[in-house]
Amino acid sequence: MNRIARGAIEALPAAVAARSPTRLAFVVDREVARLHETLERIAAEIGAAWIPVPGGERSKTPDGLAALWSRLAEADLDRGSLLLAAGGGTVLDLAGFAASTWHRGIPWVAIPTTLLAMVDASIGGKTGIDLPAGKNLVGAFHPPLEVHVDLAFLDTLPAEEIGTGLAEIVKAAVVGDSGLLEHVERNATALLAREEASLLEAVRRAVAVKTAIVSRDPREGGERRVLNFGHTLGHAIESASGYAIPHGRAVAVGMLAACTVAQGRGLASPALRERLSLLLSRLGLPTGLPAGFGPEAIVDATAADKKRAAGVLSMVLPRDVGRVEVVAGITREEIEKGVRLLFEKRGPAPFPERKGA
Ligand code: NAD
Repeated sequence: MNRIARGAIEALPAAVAARSPTRLAFVVDREVARLHETLERIAAEIGAAWIPVPGGERSKTPDGLAALWSRLAEADLDRGSLLLAAGGGTVLDLAGFAASTWHRGIPWVAIPTTLLAMVDASIGGKTGIDLPAGKNLVGAFHPPLEVHVDLAFLDTLPAEEIGTGLAEIVKAAVVGDSGLLEHVERNATALLAREEASLLEAVRRAVAVKTAIVSRDPREGGERRVLNFGHTLGHAIESASGYAIPHGRAVAVGMLAACTVAQGRGLASPALRERLSLLLSRLGLPTGLPAGFGPEAIVDATAADKKRAAGVLSMVLPRDVGRVEVVAGITREEIEKGVRLLFEKRGPAPFPERKGA
């Protein structure tokens, strides 16, 4: 069940009471706890053990998980307990995975505090941690019982993180909702200014796109893979840049490169790439890549993509807005062509380092 509104977390005490848990733990991104004191007040009100953890990828590790398990043991969480987690995708992935393993699995409730976590990470039940060998290598499918989306958290979110969330909203629109793309086009300035009604509509529709897809394919056996639109090359770009290019920006240019590959195969018209490119730049997202590393590094990085099965590279290619498909057998030459264009038409947006990653 998803609750999406400003002030949604005020309904938490009643929602928790209805579940009658034996004990409660409240895992929270430390920075979010500092900025939103309501959370600690609610934790005290419901009698939950208060467990602040650092946000960002540094927490989403075996050490971060072991530290969290110790805190759950201190809180004496038994099989009838409920875990609440408030934070961005990193804290939700970590806490959700801890819930999936604690006493072989206890229920949890997600309170996403970044735009990305609201429209993506809190939906669909993927939880997990990173290893030095790769991101999200260890994890479990363990969907939260409830997701409480409170737009008040977005008031304090750094602009860079709003951009990351908007890139995922554009992805959701291209994957499954042409009306959402039109909404973002009409309201790009309002969204950047965090105008409430525009954000609410965008979040609701993006959540609906992902919820519908994961409900049909909860374990990513097939259709769910379309949610990787922009991500195969996005991950490769992040990795080839040594993670200097943040996720949302890498996904933005990854979507454009996927459009180029689709165009090369006669699936999409050039107008689709032009339309997305214009929208991304209006949203302050990049439409090209800075010099410093080349197409070859990105092509090499795709070889390591974990979604590459039996030596065949698959990519999600768009035919049109709302019509994408997974295409197998993408060649090195096609990727190189898709990526090369990004270096030729460099976007105006700068590439700041992501804090806390
Ligand atoms: P994040 O969790 O690292 O949060 C970004 C930064 O914003 C952090 O520094 C955090 O402390 C801060 N922050 C969070 N909420 C804030 C607020 N309201 N105000 C001010 N600062 C705030 O990043 P993210 O982009 O939310 O999540 C990225 C992670 O999500 C990655 O690890 C990725 O693998 C994962 N993810 C998971 C899924 C899934 O299906 N489980 C889907 C997409 C992404």
